[in-house]
Amino acid sequence: MKYQLVNVMEERVMRAINDTLPQLGCCTCDRCKADVAAYTLSRVTPNYILVNENEAPPVSDPSEKEDDSEILQIIVQAADIISANPNHN
Ligand SMILES: [Zn+2]
Repeated sequence: MKYQLVNVMEERVMRAINDTLPQLGCCTCDRCKADVAAYTLSRVTPNYILVNENEAPPVSDPSEKEDDSEILQIIVQAADIISANPNHN
């Protein structure tokens, strides 16, 4: 039996970045998205779960409203920094 460690914050952060980055006036190329993701994921508290390879991954309950305000605050900071000093070509 094989288990995989999955940081559920990663999916939430990526989703939040895709939703909010265009509104923040930040470049949305893959490089800038990845930079914002790296900055954000380094600062939010990770939330790891074990996923059994043979089972379908757990689906988050949509009725349970997630609080993304902490994530969004950090994404705003990241977008500021990345926009001021982008690493893309
Ligand atoms: Zn870019």
